[in-house]
Amino acid sequence: MKTMTNLINKGRIRYMAPIFVSAALLSSTWGIAQRPGGFGGGQAIKDPIVDAIVKEGKDNSQLEKLAHELMDGIGPRLVGSPKMKQANDWAVSKYTSWGISAKNEQWGEWRGWDRGITHVDMVLPWVKSLEGMQLAWSPSTGGKTVTGETILLPEIADSLAFQQWLPNVKGKFVLISVAQPTGRPDYNWDEFGTKESVEKMKKERTALTQAWNNRISKTGFNARTLPVALENAGAVGVVMSNWSNGFGVNKIFSANTKKVPTIDLSLEDYGLLFRLTESGKKPQISVRADSKETGTTPVFNTLAEIKGTTKPNEYVMLSAHFDSWDGATGATDNGTGTITMMEAMRILKKILPNPKRTILVGHWGSEEQGLNGSRAFVEDHPEIVNNLQALFNQDNGTGRVANISGQGFLHSYEYISRWLSTVPAEIRQHITTNFPGSPGGGGSDFASFLAAGAPGFSLSSLGWSYGNYTWHTNRDTYDKIVFDDVRNNAILTAILVYMASEDDQKTSRDKIVLPINPRTGKPGEWPAPVKATRKGGL
Ligand SMILES: [Zn+2]
Repeated sequence: MKTMTNLINKGRIRYMAPIFVSAALLSSTWGIAQRPGGFGGGQAIKDPIVDAIVKEGKDNSQLEKLAHELMDGIGPRLVGSPKMKQANDWAVSKYTSWGISAKNEQWGEWRGWDRGITHVDMVLPWVKSLEGMQLAWSPSTGGKTVTGETILLPEIADSLAFQQWLPNVKGKFVLISVAQPTGRPDYNWDEFGTKESVEKMKKERTALTQAWNNRISKTGFNARTLPVALENAGAVGVVMSNWSNGFGVNKIFSANTKKVPTIDLSLEDYGLLFRLTESGKKPQISVRADSKETGTTPVFNTLAEIKGTTKPNEYVMLSAHFDSWDGATGATDNGTGTITMMEAMRILKKILPNPKRTILVGHWGSEEQGLNGSRAFVEDHPEIVNNLQALFNQDNGTGRVANISGQGFLHSYEYISRWLSTVPAEIRQHITTNFPGSPGGGGSDFASFLAAGAPGFSLSSLGWSYGNYTWHTNRDTYDKIVFDDVRNNAILTAILVYMASEDDQKTSRDKIVLPINPRTGKPGEWPAPVKATRKGGL
């Protein structure tokens, strides 16, 4: 059975490869067919600057060093945290060391919070150190270790019954998440389970989740307000588990409690506590959660530029958000986008020190809370946004760029194809293009520019299990970076920026007529600008 499965799997992988390659070839063939006077099949148009960019990107790559300094040396970059500012200052000094002028530009203020240690141990009925951490902006345990029994949200009739039960939480840690019936991701079940057992598991999981959601809604509170009700009733902490549907991986967002810590535990350790509590074993945990409120903190975008020579008032931008969630070190969200843009800037400064247009990079703050740094930049710099030749943003993981959309610009096909024409086939063969495409309404910072009608594009990456395993998780760390793909992306970005900067033609901003929205029956509308939140978490 095992051998069979292994053989089948190997066969599947071998079978997948040619499909992928031919799909990539097909799409690039399609692109050529669509392009008047198109570029040749696999061969890129030869350009000595491009050759030099590729050589510098390959032979003198700084990506590993940058990743180590940022992810390992500084760590997570939550908006308003001291580490975010440390990263801003680090980037400025890096650029300065490469002879590129750089600065931090304040765009707002945020609640300052500095993550400290979280230690969680089960001390009864036996001893085990548990894997868990405070959520972002969680209150601390006030410099002490707090020990208490765990208690489950009860099965109750209604909110009145919940109010009567509520005093039971006094001095206890309350478990507020469903206990997952399995810590094995679906792909593992699909690989090894019988059809019947997989179906049974999924049914059970759906039923458990529904029952748990009902349990919460009967309290009269929701996921946001329940933790506050519990702490007000004397709970010493709120314990949850936000599983990310992969082995050993949780998503870490922000706390709703105001006085006591909110702790996320791994699926495995949460399940252990849950089952022991449910079976009446009265487990106890000890929690030490240190964190500091650091007051209202100025927040920044880091900007760096290589001044244009003949068209200094026109801009080509590189773009990636700099902030992260802080369950890990934000390696793929968006450490990889960050180092891609830094490396591309370094290469460009060396190979193209005197570009025609001004080359500007934006490392944005607070993307995670709603594209705030880039929205603020768009509001504050109409002189740049109105004269933007193109912006290239990367923010969906460590993978090589696999898709570029024209984002609804009528003539995007002409200029993006022109810029891609010199990109070596080894990079271009992986990219599917989509013209004219439709404008992205959000997701990452290019959308802030699109909403202002400026040509902002997304260099969209292959997944590498981004959604489950790294995006906003406690496993988004250095080891997940696929450096060859990031190198591919840094070289691609440098070439696209070079081509856009030196292009004789200014890019057109003509938009497509958006199709009728089937839901409303009205013509689709271009995404409207959204105001930046300039004061957050306060
Ligand atoms: Zn991101």
